Amino acid sequence: MKNIHVLLDNGHGNNTVGKRSPKLEDGRQLLEYQWAREVVRLIAGMLEAEGITYSIITPEEWDVTLGERCRRANAIAKRSKVPTVFLSVHCNAAGNKGQWIEAYGWSAYTSRGETEADRLATCLYDAAGEIFPEGKRLRRDFSDGDADQEAGFYILRHTSMPAVLTENFFMDCRKECEWLLTDEAKELCARVHVEGIKKYMV
Ligand SMILES: [Zn+2]
Repeated sequence: MKNIHVLLDNGHGNNTVGKRSPKLEDGRQLLEYQWAREVVRLIAGMLEAEGITYSIITPEEWDVTLGERCRRANAIAKRSKVPTVFLSVHCNAAGNKGQWIEAYGWSAYTSRGETEADRLATCLYDAAGEIFPEGKRLRRDFSDGDADQEAGFYILRHTSMPAVLTENFFMDCRKECEWLLTDEAKELCARVHVEGIKKYMV
């Protein structure tokens, strides 16, 4: 694949209820919409350095509906002269009561069934295995023959191009939250997306 256009979606917005970590003792808190925007901006910068074109489909700070996200992505894909892929960047959460939970790891989701998105997800897992430091867990599900987890997420079902949603560790796991808030973590999470794309383009 000589060229590809990457559609970047940062989950949620500043008006989204929940979608945040519990507060750390020093008052810091991970807000998913903010973290995802930061990481998407890093991904964009890295893609630019690689000469890979992209669109950030949700540049707004506020929440854009899932339907509108899909409409924007599909409209860009329709106009694009090169193949498009879609990445939606999130942080995982295991609970919803504002408490710390013991849940660990990074995962990538595709829609159900074998599609081109599965190959993209496999490339992302390969990059994750190479880039994340030792001790970081990759959550894999090999029940269908590849590593990615499959789910009926709206954004994955209603986008017309290969689409993967990444859950970049657990924001309600104290250890992972503290790490996610570091520049190193944001940089590495962004790098995984970019290297995954590059593997996919080979
Ligand atoms: Zn999310």
